Amino acid sequence: MTETTAATDGTRTTTPGTEVVTRFAPSPTGFLHIGGARTALFNWLYARHHGGRFLLRIEDTDRARSTQPAIDAILTSLRWLGLDWDGDEVYQSARADRHAEVAHRMVEHGHAYRCYLTTEELAAMRAEAEAAKKPLRVRSPWRDKAAEADDSRPFVVRLKAPTDGAVTIEDRVQGSVTVQNAELDDLVLLRSDGTPTYMLAVVVDDHDMGVTHVIRGDDHLNNAFRQLPIIRAMDAIEGGWPDPVYAHIPLIHGSDGAKLSKRHGAVGVEYYRDELGMLPEALDNYLLRLGWGHGDDEIISRTQAVEWFDLAGVGKSPSRFDFKKLENLNGQYIRVADDERLATLVADRLDFVPTDEQRELLGRSMASLKPRAADLLDLANGAAFLFRKRPLEMDRDATALVSGEAPKLLARLHAALDALESWDTESLETAVRQVADDAGVKLGQVAQPLRAALTGRKTSPGIFDVLELLGREESLGRIADQMIV
Ligand code: GLU
Repeated sequence: MTETTAATDGTRTTTPGTEVVTRFAPSPTGFLHIGGARTALFNWLYARHHGGRFLLRIEDTDRARSTQPAIDAILTSLRWLGLDWDGDEVYQSARADRHAEVAHRMVEHGHAYRCYLTTEELAAMRAEAEAAKKPLRVRSPWRDKAAEADDSRPFVVRLKAPTDGAVTIEDRVQGSVTVQNAELDDLVLLRSDGTPTYMLAVVVDDHDMGVTHVIRGDDHLNNAFRQLPIIRAMDAIEGGWPDPVYAHIPLIHGSDGAKLSKRHGAVGVEYYRDELGMLPEALDNYLLRLGWGHGDDEIISRTQAVEWFDLAGVGKSPSRFDFKKLENLNGQYIRVADDERLATLVADRLDFVPTDEQRELLGRSMASLKPRAADLLDLANGAAFLFRKRPLEMDRDATALVSGEAPKLLARLHAALDALESWDTESLETAVRQVADDAGVKLGQVAQPLRAALTGRKTSPGIFDVLELLGREESLGRIADQMIV
């Protein structure tokens, strides 16, 4: 449970009790992008670090803009990133009655009121504010006329916001931030059709879900000052509505310092998985380091992250998204990833369904492909030679490599390799070196045409690995296709 004490200056300190409850509350109007994924990760880590719970709430109150594909993409992406949530996800739209109930309770207790201002009256107030070059802060004339409830006219329910004093938030990331109440307005809680606004819904849901820590993008800091008066009003009415601990994390910027846009990589997490061939642990590690640090540690395992994560380590300034760093980190994770797992991921990317034999070959090839791969695309491209059909189609570089003297060298190689008793990398290397020596050329002059003949390309894993992976029959066949005896 959480203990809250009200200080005389209106600020409160919330002492988290035994259980920490965090939540991720995406609006499913688009896919889960990089910034959202990081917010989810920080919430997940904070909860796991404290042995608490991490909840998921889909904020789908904007029915026109929320879509099922977006919800699916969010759930799939979170699962892919390994950010499992406790219990079932909560759908905000299903809770509209509860939100309205809270608003009505606030009206009953004088913390909110029915406002009958017409559209024209509001437009006039807006015009007046504009003329005075002031932002529109609604203090409706209905604020103090609560007794005159009239069901025959449309009304909205507005918060009777405090007009003097100030609210201070001790934000765990932003520090102490104060806003004068005079700067806030009587925000709408229920629209004239009785539907709740976002401000009300967030507060009610966080309370009902027992959320103790609100960790979210700092674009929501202003909202916190609008949400707190609702929380405090409800606490005054029924108690048990403590202020949550707030942590507003700086947004992610592009590498050029501008707000992150599509151009910078602000695409859905699925894009990183499908189009860029990233591993989830690499993306998690990258996102963790984006705005949070533990000394100079670059590679941080899940276990270490859970052990080390805290809000004190979150920086105050926006971090820059650096795609090169992410790519590099992904390469490092590829190198330590399990071969069988990688082979399965690569198999999914082939444009055919591999036979059992091909699948097994793929598994064996990972060890030699991994060192050069930055992502799964590289692995899949690198493995492609294994499955090409004879005679191989040579690309331009490879064609050049198998011309001139090369076909004759290839014939010598063919003879030497054909004579081998054992087809292992050691015997293969000895034989190839011998051919180079006998021909009086450098190893590279033999290895390059050999590589081209075996793969149809100029680059490949180590040539002896290639020979071993392809096996005797296929290797000799491919060499024969390019040689002149
Ligand atoms: N639904 C909001 C968003 O996607 C987040 C609300 C919150 O975290 O309080 O930006």
